[in-house]
Amino acid sequence: MRYSSMLIPTVKEIPADAETASHKLMIRAGLIRKVAGGTYTYLPLGWRSLLKVIAIVREEMNKAGAQEILVPSMQPHELWQRTGRSIDYGPTIFRIEDRHGKVNVLGPTAEEVVTFHAAAEIKSYKQLPFNLYQISPKFRDELRPRFGVIRSREFLMKDAYSFHADAGSLDETYWVMYEAYERIFTRCGLKFVAVEAEVGEMGGSGSHQFTVPCESGEDTIVYTEDGSYAANLERADVDPLSKEDTDAEIPPTEQVHTPNIGSIETVCAFLKTQPKDMIKTLVYATGDDVITAIVRGDHDVNSEKLSQAIGGKHIELADEVTIEKVTGAKVGFAGPTGLAQEVSKMLIDHVVAAMAVGVAGANKTDYHIKNVVPGRDFPLEGDNVIVTDIRYAQQGDTRDGKELLFKKGIEVGQVFKLGTKYSTKLGAKFLDENGEEKPCLMGCYGIGINRIVASAIELGNDENGIIWPITIAPFEVLVTSVNQDDEEVAQVAEGIYHRLTDKGVEALLDDRILRGGVKFKDADLIGIPIRVTVGRKSVAGGNVEIKLRCESQSRTVSIEQAAEEVAELVNSLKEQLKP
Ligand code: ATP
Ligand code: MG
Repeated sequence: MRYSSMLIPTVKEIPADAETASHKLMIRAGLIRKVAGGTYTYLPLGWRSLLKVIAIVREEMNKAGAQEILVPSMQPHELWQRTGRSIDYGPTIFRIEDRHGKVNVLGPTAEEVVTFHAAAEIKSYKQLPFNLYQISPKFRDELRPRFGVIRSREFLMKDAYSFHADAGSLDETYWVMYEAYERIFTRCGLKFVAVEAEVGEMGGSGSHQFTVPCESGEDTIVYTEDGSYAANLERADVDPLSKEDTDAEIPPTEQVHTPNIGSIETVCAFLKTQPKDMIKTLVYATGDDVITAIVRGDHDVNSEKLSQAIGGKHIELADEVTIEKVTGAKVGFAGPTGLAQEVSKMLIDHVVAAMAVGVAGANKTDYHIKNVVPGRDFPLEGDNVIVTDIRYAQQGDTRDGKELLFKKGIEVGQVFKLGTKYSTKLGAKFLDENGEEKPCLMGCYGIGINRIVASAIELGNDENGIIWPITIAPFEVLVTSVNQDDEEVAQVAEGIYHRLTDKGVEALLDDRILRGGVKFKDADLIGIPIRVTVGRKSVAGGNVEIKLRCESQSRTVSIEQAAEEVAELVNSLKEQLKP
């Protein structure tokens, strides 16, 4: 392709709303343009890169035995009601009403539709297992679309769904997918880690998340130095603490007047205590039930863990009216004492159970209680009391006695063992060898195509622009004709460009009549991995220059040798990214 005839609108200005390197550079290098909040158009360079990612994903999925299909983005809402995910996803789902008043969903993913088909087509165990995938747009009305294409409202996902007769078969496919993911991300030039993940709204029994560690990531991975444990923050378990020593006799509870002082910080300042000596009580709603979560004042409730502790049910923080009804006090004064009988379940973090004594809300507006002893002043056992791990890991926590470390990252993919959640609800059943009817076991496997491109840029950039991995770069080689107005230079550049193209190398010829400096700036910004510089001086000496985008030094090669050498360089760069 010729630069002069392509739309590559590079810009100097950093877009005002761009916070991350990839967002800034994708706009500046003319890869994408914003249409509206969280929706982007891919311009020619951006789309070329995306297509390369798609090709890699498709190749590896096919190799792993998955079959490509395409399901509609617009799906009947009714299917989403049947699985309960209309509620679970809540406002994240785009809903549209058609002219007949029927509600449709713009699919945020496709378990429902694919399982609907499986239900209709599967009769016997003989048809199992199989794995279907698609690469298609997904829609999510994200609370905070941001970081350009990393969290957008419309994005491309590769989503796969496998169906099995037994757990062994699901396990096998799960690991085949896991390994396919490792190959995909390696081939795309990403440095990534696979960590244990929470199953979340998907439901199911096991999951791994593939994350690209980088500062701008919204995910946190939690790991031990020796690598024996790695999980995402939603999932990360922490060691329980042993019961604090209490030689001293703790006096009975004492109510203290804390007028208008509801937050942990203000209570601490007022009572001259510390968050770690406080007991925090949060009220959640799940369907018509109310549950409470009790954690230490310096800890945060992990709603994923909370939800898992009550059998994976969807939970939400209760509204003010509910809180006041249950606690008998304004928001800010909830406490565990006397609350167990008011709620359907009381979940107590095991760190709280290990506390000797603490300060808690009094369930009375403007009052707190001192000298609250877990087990004495509120129950640690009982029909509706569960003591377990319900909080986020934080600095200082350990797992199996080893210190937990934290790192930011971008989630690029996730694999799940779904079990029978969807097949049961949507009737995807089969007859086994004994003629017994059973629901299929399922797995699902997602990859964010756009996030791969953005993550590659997060990892590969400098102050001048993008540094692409060759496998997903929009072009492999940029031939820059520095003096396009000089006929000889233009001809040499043209000749090398043609020879490269003939060899199957993807080359872009910068044939614009512009100053060399401008061309070099653009070259650095769009970040094509190999640049061949054809200038008047070197051509006069029978040479051109070859430079890697990731290195500062260039080297000289003869005009005759140039295409051959560049083609070899392309191959060796590709070789480095082979799994
Ligand atoms: P997140 O936690 O970042 O919201 P998720 O876990 O909800 O993502 P999945 O349902 O697992 O996402 O979707 C599969 C993949 O799709 C993710 O691993 C991610 O790479 C990509 N993805 C999800 N949401 C978005 C989005 N809003 N924009 C771009 N890619 C996305
Ligand atoms: Mg995910």
